[in-house]
Amino acid sequence: AKQAYVRTKPHLNIGTMGHVDHGKTTLTAAITKVLSKRGGAKYVPFDRIDRAPEEATRGITINISHVEYETATRHYAHVDMPGHADYVKNMITGAAQLDGAILVVSALDGIMPQTREHVLLAQRVGVEHVVVALNKADGADPELADLVELELRDLLAKHGYQDVPIVRVSGLRALEGDPEWVASIEALLQAVDDHVPVPVRYTDVPFLLPVENALTVTGRGTVVTGAIERGTVKIGDTVQAVGLGEGFTAVVTGVETFGKTMERGEAGDNAALLLRGIRREQVRRGQVLVAPGTQSAHRLFTARVYLLTGDEGGRSTAVATGYRPQFYLRTTDVPGRMDLRGDGLALPGETVEVTVELGRPVALETGLGFAIREGGKTVGAGTVTALLD
Ligand code: GDP
Ligand code: MG
Repeated sequence: AKQAYVRTKPHLNIGTMGHVDHGKTTLTAAITKVLSKRGGAKYVPFDRIDRAPEEATRGITINISHVEYETATRHYAHVDMPGHADYVKNMITGAAQLDGAILVVSALDGIMPQTREHVLLAQRVGVEHVVVALNKADGADPELADLVELELRDLLAKHGYQDVPIVRVSGLRALEGDPEWVASIEALLQAVDDHVPVPVRYTDVPFLLPVENALTVTGRGTVVTGAIERGTVKIGDTVQAVGLGEGFTAVVTGVETFGKTMERGEAGDNAALLLRGIRREQVRRGQVLVAPGTQSAHRLFTARVYLLTGDEGGRSTAVATGYRPQFYLRTTDVPGRMDLRGDGLALPGETVEVTVELGRPVALETGLGFAIREGGKTVGAGTVTALLD
């Protein structure tokens, strides 16, 4: 029989972010290795985290790798995303649902463009707490590291992050078992425990889980995975799939997290739900599973949209009514059309009221955040203000 997940400690969702090659995946592997010595994790080697997601045997998500571990006081689900585009997609749509982030910065290279972009993204999507892993400290001149630290404090303060712990670490040397650097990982985890508070979880509201992935488990049926956004779910509950087509209702016959069975999945948990009588093809990433009748799909809405400036990675030219970018909502992205009020033009840096018509209906509600992308870059961030259909 499968092991049961016993909820003895608060659960938090965290993840690494930062410029490519600064050591996010190495650090993620190192954390699991260091904690495995204390029984707080199963060691997950680098190539298990970073392999092509399609090949991942756990198959939990399409473009996020999850590992789990425990410190003395918390249970963490930790996401490490393979590339910059995955960060933009998963962070800005809120798919990653980070309660806190570990910003990985190479002490050898300092702040790089994706470092800036991820800090900006974190601020925009409401990641309230950041801890810095100043990585590759094994090879860095301490005075140079001091300078990087100063610049980082400045960058973080500009985005509203005050009193951020900055811990000098070496993921690589910790992986190799060097005691000095193993201790640096322990210090980093202590900083995360101390600095990232346990968030308020909305469990007393109807269930909602944005679908990240669906897979067939031989002999058991279809399993749908994702992070529970709010509410709770248990065996025997009926759930409804909403958005991107017809949808369905189904009875939940199993609830798991990281391969362990759960009595009850709660807001904040990374869950796998086994659904009775559903084929994998019926489920789509980007649908939401909800308590029946509590959500509906829409194509037409008004929104308040902030257009990123060129410096923030956005456009350098105005957008006009009839603009057709891609809209990123929770775990999906769909094409759509955006119409502007007034003279029908808006410049980067402006916040504007718009009407959006999506190419396909998705589950929407007022207050939902979304991102707007075009040609591989994020050009805007918006909030739904009213549903029109
Ligand atoms: P990611 O793109 O941020 O996930 O970076 P990776 O974890 O793939 O690491 C990029 C490169 O940096 C690899 O060659 C690592 O071996 C190296 N690296 C990672 N951490 C450290 C470290 O602490 N010290 C040193 N010297 N090299 C590191
Ligand atoms: Mg990586």
